[in-house]
Amino acid sequence: MVIGGGVMGLFTAYHASERVDRVVVLERGRIGDPMTASFGRTRSYRSDYLDPGYARLAREALRLWEEFERQTGTAALIRCGCMNIAKRSVTPDLRSTYGHRSHRVLEELGVPSVSLAGKALRARFPYLEADVGYLDLDGGVVNLPAVTAALQRTLADRGVRIVEGITTRLAARCGSEIRVVTDVEEWASRSVVVTAGHGTNEVLARLNGARLQVPLTRDRPIEAKYFTPPADFREQFASNAMPVIAYLDAGIYCHPIINGLIDKVKIGYYHPPDLPRAVTTIDSVMSFVEHCAPTLLEARIEPVDDVDGCDYDLVADDEFVLGAVPGFPGAYVGVGWRGTGYKFAPWVGRVLADLAVERDSMYDVRRFDPARFTKGRFHAGSAISANA
Ligand SMILES: Cc1cc2nc3c(=O)[nH]c(=O)nc-3n(C[C@H](O)[C@H](O)[C@H](O)COP(=O)(O)OP(=O)(O)OC[C@H]3O[C@@H](n4cnc5c(N)ncnc54)[C@H](O)[C@@H]3O)c2cc1C
Repeated sequence: MVIGGGVMGLFTAYHASERVDRVVVLERGRIGDPMTASFGRTRSYRSDYLDPGYARLAREALRLWEEFERQTGTAALIRCGCMNIAKRSVTPDLRSTYGHRSHRVLEELGVPSVSLAGKALRARFPYLEADVGYLDLDGGVVNLPAVTAALQRTLADRGVRIVEGITTRLAARCGSEIRVVTDVEEWASRSVVVTAGHGTNEVLARLNGARLQVPLTRDRPIEAKYFTPPADFREQFASNAMPVIAYLDAGIYCHPIINGLIDKVKIGYYHPPDLPRAVTTIDSVMSFVEHCAPTLLEARIEPVDDVDGCDYDLVADDEFVLGAVPGFPGAYVGVGWRGTGYKFAPWVGRVLADLAVERDSMYDVRRFDPARFTKGRFHAGSAISANA
């Protein structure tokens, strides 16, 4: 049983249903609700992490995305590349920038990444005012509607039951089973996986005996804007010419136009959780455009208010939370993706399905063990009864 039907829950059901017959997903709202993190058009996928551990995981997730594309016949990934840029007048020490440092990590891991500077950069990206760009050739954007539709279709074909609009009241161990009581039905399950995003602690509090509350906080992109370039320039900003462009030292990411999916460039300004808050001359989307992509000043500009209405789920120690729930044998949790989780979803789902079905995973996830947040005493159970 999976509680929470975002991308993590659906991928857990996807991998579990390859191995067991009866998989159920309980979703409080509805799949694809605009206020959930997994709703939107595009999410970047990339491997350019400063921490080699996360870079390796992103590579493994990419392998699983490609497997998912083959198995479901879905074009999930738009392989436009992902480029970190830097400009001396914004971040004077180019060698200490995110782009330079993450490029070194990728080189050490043998991941294809090229650096472009001066005329070469200008020739390929004429609208870009930057001194250097580090292009992760295996990065790009994920097509979210295509992924959600493929997951729903495949899960339906495999007989996975998805129950929407349901509230979980209590889960308690009864011998070898877990009894799950909801406002609609009652189930007996061998395992429970909690992938409820911002609702995770609420669900954990209903697992009788569980000793886990995850120190989660919320953060939001500070602002995001759409840019519709004039027709003459449009092709330069489409995904067959433009990669995802990030200037993380300045908190900036840009997603290209994707034919058939989105006809505008999206530029966001945020606090990247894995970087100290640097002060640069870029302090808004518009100041980035002025400094680094002035051609877009001629574009039609509007706020992004149709997608990305959800917050990031940050964890106190800035690590994923993935594994067994302390105090509740047979329950597993995945949360705390720090605004960077979508690209890892097939891998997260694989790990959680391994744990739920086999009680073990071929992946070493000790680093993400939820037990680091174990509470000293049982915190759930007494206030919640099966009849509540
Ligand atoms: C604005 C934004 C931009 C992002 N950009 C990127 C990016 O470019 N690249 C990237 O890799 N990642 C990105 N991410 C992160 C990524 O989107 C998330 O990590 C991922 O979607 C999280 O999926 P989830 O399934 O854990 O959460 P959600 O999608 O929030 O799903 C949780 C589900 O659980 C349900 N639920 C909650 N409580 C209960 C309950 N009690 N019972 C049953 N169901 C419940 C909710 O309704 C929801 O459907 C971004 C996130 C945001 C918010």
